[in-house]
Amino acid sequence: MFLLEALKKHAVQIPERCALITAGERLTYARLWERSEAFASYLNEKHPVKDPVMIYGHKEEDFLCCMIGALKAGRAYIPVDITLPADRAEQIVADAHPCVIVDFPGGGVGADSGIPVLGADALAQLLEEYRGREVSSHTWVAGKDPCYILFTSGSTGRPKGVPIHCDNLTNFAENLYPFCDPHEKEEVYTNQISYAFDVSVVSVYIGLSLGRTLYSLPKTLTENMAALMETLGRSDVGFWVSTPSFAELCVTSALFNGELMPKLHTFLFCGEVLTHKLVDTLRQRFPKARIINTYGPTEATVLVTASEITAEMAADERSIPIGEPLPEVTLLVTDETGKELPEGERGELRIISRSVSEGYFRRPDLTQKVFFETQDAQGKTVRGYRTGDACYRLGNQFYYCGRMDFQIKLNGFRIELEDIESNLMKIDNVNRAVAIPVFDGEKVAYIAAFVSLREPDGLPPLKQMLKIKEAAKAYLPSYMIPRKIVVKDRLPVNTNGKADRKALAAELSRP
Ligand code: AMP
Repeated sequence: MFLLEALKKHAVQIPERCALITAGERLTYARLWERSEAFASYLNEKHPVKDPVMIYGHKEEDFLCCMIGALKAGRAYIPVDITLPADRAEQIVADAHPCVIVDFPGGGVGADSGIPVLGADALAQLLEEYRGREVSSHTWVAGKDPCYILFTSGSTGRPKGVPIHCDNLTNFAENLYPFCDPHEKEEVYTNQISYAFDVSVVSVYIGLSLGRTLYSLPKTLTENMAALMETLGRSDVGFWVSTPSFAELCVTSALFNGELMPKLHTFLFCGEVLTHKLVDTLRQRFPKARIINTYGPTEATVLVTASEITAEMAADERSIPIGEPLPEVTLLVTDETGKELPEGERGELRIISRSVSEGYFRRPDLTQKVFFETQDAQGKTVRGYRTGDACYRLGNQFYYCGRMDFQIKLNGFRIELEDIESNLMKIDNVNRAVAIPVFDGEKVAYIAAFVSLREPDGLPPLKQMLKIKEAAKAYLPSYMIPRKIVVKDRLPVNTNGKADRKALAAELSRP
């Protein structure tokens, strides 16, 4: 496995270099190697069946050690962020049957599952106990072994797992290295995105394999602008990886510029629409930095396109392109039968690549709907994925035109509107719910929901909204809770008997 090979080399050649800075603590490459060896030894000894390891937390130093340790013990890790409410985390436990759960905040996730749970202290103790133990590289993940399983919003209201195996990641890394200066050197990468979201894979797999230092920007920090700017100012970050939303948050501070971060030479964006406004602002504030836009779904290992945004693209009336396909990727804009459409015509984007996942974790029904197999030019079977993204192509550049279904991106988070609806309907007294995205230009600004009740509750609208929002916290992470909730006696339906989303959206835009 390329990342483990590289880490082994770094532990010998650059042992004192910092692999991770988190909450002021510095984790060297030597210590990362040693602690992950200890965790892998524990897994191999106590849990010989290679079930995945679930890690619940947020940017803790040992989170990374456990991820690497799981790979060394030949099994996948399932990173779950603490922003997930207990109900959803339990659904993942039930679906994934991990062999062990690492629960950093100690919130009791998996406590009733019969699965061993390690809190932060128990883990630290265990890593001490196994310190100095080593595992053979024969136990490492390889080939089609899954390395991680990311659970993303599912339209039924239950998260669905996307497993990504070693070969997927090798292909992803080989494709992306040329954009990142593919030589081992001292440099700092941002480590802001939660490990539960796949944009973080760029920092972890590319950054660490190239011997870089990952600088964690945990949620508590990013919620405090003054502290965030102060930290960025002394971070020495050279390579910035994030969703555009995080950079949009940063530019609200006038301090965020090339003077604050003189070493910053690259912004790599992924995960959602990159707007002209953000490109213009960054070009002004960081005149020496290049901006790279990339695109891809979790199902195809983070990203399958990339392009440096040129002055012409920034000045163009069209949207910022999502980039050119990476070397081993075929992108087709297709009609509903799968036939490729001519240049300039809009259709569904299909991805054919060695980075495409084998399919949803234990969900052959869902897999069959969107994954497919085809032959490459050499007659070898390659996997394909129907993205549900509407796109068109001009030359070798692809342009994104929104979703063809009810999936959206809000502040970089992937959300199925039906997931919100199913979970709102779990709330006592909520009969039906319809979630509607409210756009500001190309991007979703917020989500509104319309709800009908089983029994009238006699509350004024504001109190009704607050009550439902409070109850929703038990089922949905905060980023999925609609900003605005309107209770109606009855929700309008169209001629097919389905919720009339157009009528509801029109209601929102009325003054
Ligand atoms: P995720 O699986 O969370 O990475 O979300 C994948 C989805 O995010 C894609 O199917 C697109 O709808 C959207 N997306 C990813 N990258 C971009 C981009 N550069 N521009 C616009 N949308 C994007």
